Amino acid sequence: MTELTAQRDLAARDYDALVRRGLKLDLTRGKPSPHQLDLSARMTALPSTHLAADGTDCRNYGNLQGLAEIRELFADLLQVPAAQLLAGGNSSLAMMHDTIVFSLLSVLPGAARRWADEQEIVFLCPVPGYDRHFALCERFGITMVQVPMTAEGPDMDVVERLVADDPRVKGIWCVPKYSNPSGVTYGDETVRRLAAMTTAAPDFRIFWDNAYAIHHLTDEHAELADLLALCAEYGNADRAFVFGSTSKVTLAGSGVAFFGGSPANVAWYLGNLSKQSIGPDKMNQLRHVEFLRDAEGVAAHMRRHAELVWPKFEAVDRILTKELGGTGLAGWTAPSGGYFISLDVPEGCAKEVVAKAKAAGIALTPAGATHPYGDDPADRTIRIAPTYPDLEELEEAITGLTVCVRLVATEKLLS
Ligand code: PLP
Repeated sequence: MTELTAQRDLAARDYDALVRRGLKLDLTRGKPSPHQLDLSARMTALPSTHLAADGTDCRNYGNLQGLAEIRELFADLLQVPAAQLLAGGNSSLAMMHDTIVFSLLSVLPGAARRWADEQEIVFLCPVPGYDRHFALCERFGITMVQVPMTAEGPDMDVVERLVADDPRVKGIWCVPKYSNPSGVTYGDETVRRLAAMTTAAPDFRIFWDNAYAIHHLTDEHAELADLLALCAEYGNADRAFVFGSTSKVTLAGSGVAFFGGSPANVAWYLGNLSKQSIGPDKMNQLRHVEFLRDAEGVAAHMRRHAELVWPKFEAVDRILTKELGGTGLAGWTAPSGGYFISLDVPEGCAKEVVAKAKAAGIALTPAGATHPYGDDPADRTIRIAPTYPDLEELEEAITGLTVCVRLVATEKLLS
């Protein structure tokens, strides 16, 4: 019997034992745990006043751009000047959705016509990436083209070539810091090249979804170059749409979301928004300002999140290393921030690993979700979302997952 056969047989026995345990564990979505939400418990009693700093009665209609004080608080954190930042409702994903709808239905600064009047719209999608970005493109009939991620962000040689030749290429999705799902932070040169590159489309936009801008898990904080400033410096001021939110800072269902851009883009966005709303939930914005207070208040709050989340990231890395390290059966990322870990299994194995885990009561994000159209051509990448389960459940789930990887990968190698 070869060593590989022995490994497969052992994995099969471990898998049978795993199934017999009848687990019911869920690692599917990147949600904060109840303990993380408890960190913001005090918010429910706020705000203590309905008056903003300038005397605005936050209970009433108005102030489409959002309260100045919340924009000032998040300006530096999102690298957007407060005057060019808009504070809205609870979801940045909703803002991304609306930005696409607005781009389809009204002419963008620099555009010759509405996107709806173009023959075809193409977005570049660095992979692995965030499934809801891809779902938005599918919803609106936007063609998606994959771009491989590197340790420094999207492969810029590929990006530059695609945007230079083809005016149908109108956008790129970017999660530039502690990316979903790889945890990669874009290098300075990547950001510079994104800002500087020549695009065939005059209305090309970078959808800069900085969802994890301040979600450090260790004392080593990743630094991100300032895309908006660089775009202006290279004469492409209107190129960047910046998004962010406090969904994973305060309360995921009741945070504050932000849109930022050049003055022309912000005026365009506000013009569209004025048909949709008379003003955002300013009481919630005031509540956030009272609770978080200032940049130091935000940093202290994020450290409390890290204290809860980091042991989970450490546990995943520890178990993967113990069970799969040196086997050549898997590789994974070890991010120092964000919400996800990306696990790579041998080509052609990811779907089967997820199916085997499901049969053993461990729910994972569907294989392929990290790629446009739900199709990972190499069938290799699995997204791990460690934040929601408690530590014990997480350890059990990841240990179970490694059994599935060992079984599927050895079977594949033997076939
Ligand atoms: N963007 C990324 C990259 C995410 O991972 C998520 C949530 O997982 C979101 C946006 C959702 O943001 P929001 O809650 O502000 O809609």
